[in-house]
Parts: sequence; structure tokens; C-alpha cells
Amino acid sequence: MELQSFSMRIESKDGSALVFFSGTLNEEAYAQYVKLAESLPKSCVFDFGGVSFINSTGVRDWIKFIRLVQTGRTIVFERCTDSLIGNMNLMPYMVGEATIKSVLRNSTCPKCGALDAILLVQGKDFDGNGHMLSDTPACRTCKTIVVWDMPDSEYFLFQRPG
Ligand SMILES: [Zn+2]
Repeated sequence: MELQSFSMRIESKDGSALVFFSGTLNEEAYAQYVKLAESLPKSCVFDFGGVSFINSTGVRDWIKFIRLVQTGRTIVFERCTDSLIGNMNLMPYMVGEATIKSVLRNSTCPKCGALDAILLVQGKDFDGNGHMLSDTPACRTCKTIVVWDMPDSEYFLFQRPG
């Protein structure tokens, strides 16, 4: 697998910042986080839909960044990919005081093998206690019900209290 380099794009919307992270969260990212921290408003949405991988330095630097910016701000995470969720489940400090509003959850079709990342929204598709609210979707290609790459019991550990 070839790793994509880190990139970040910022949009302003009604006084909020919408920040799109993509590629690999690695040692190259921190300098950009520091610059970002200087300009963030009180309300921020961090979109991780383009994040394909995060390495151990990336995890450490992300925790430093979130600690730097979470005080006095409302931070929402959108479209967290499985690579992020897997790390957040091991390292709850990566989420800190932010709220995970939506995820892109990896699935595999048991019949044709198609891989997909399915958008799930808190309150609509999953609750706050590790349970799915919506039915498991069907494969886009062959309509067979997909299988989640991580079962609910592992996937939703980020919701543990405290
Ligand atoms: Zn299929």
C-alpha cells in the first residue's frame, strides 16, 4: 500500500471552521496543526473522510493538537474512517472532549467481496451506547447484506464512558 501524504483544507462557514484532513496523519502534519490552532474559531468541524492511515507519531501529535485546541471550543468529528476509529478505540485521548457525529465504517460483501466505507450518523444510524439503529446495508453491486470489518463490540469502544 502506498501511503498518501498529509493534507489539510479549511473552509469557513457561519463563523465555524470546517477542516478537511486527508492522507496519512504522520510527522509531517504537526507543523500544520500548530498553524491551524492559531486561527480556529470557537466552533469547529473536523472532517476525516480522506484520512487513510495514521502512524504512531501521528497519534501522538494529534493528541497534542486536540489538547491544545479543545479548551473553550466545540469540536465535532465527522466521517471518521476505520483507521482513525481503530486508533481512537485504543487511545481515547485522541477524541478528548470532541463529539463523533459521523463515521465512514468499512464493510465487506460476503458474496462478491466488494469493499465499501459506509456513512453512519449518530442518532440516525447508531446510538451513543455502542448499538446500531439502522439495518446493516446491502452491497451496492450484488445487494447481499454486508459484514462490518469490525464487529460492533470492537468498533464502538470509542463511546465508552470517561
Ligand atoms: Zn456484493
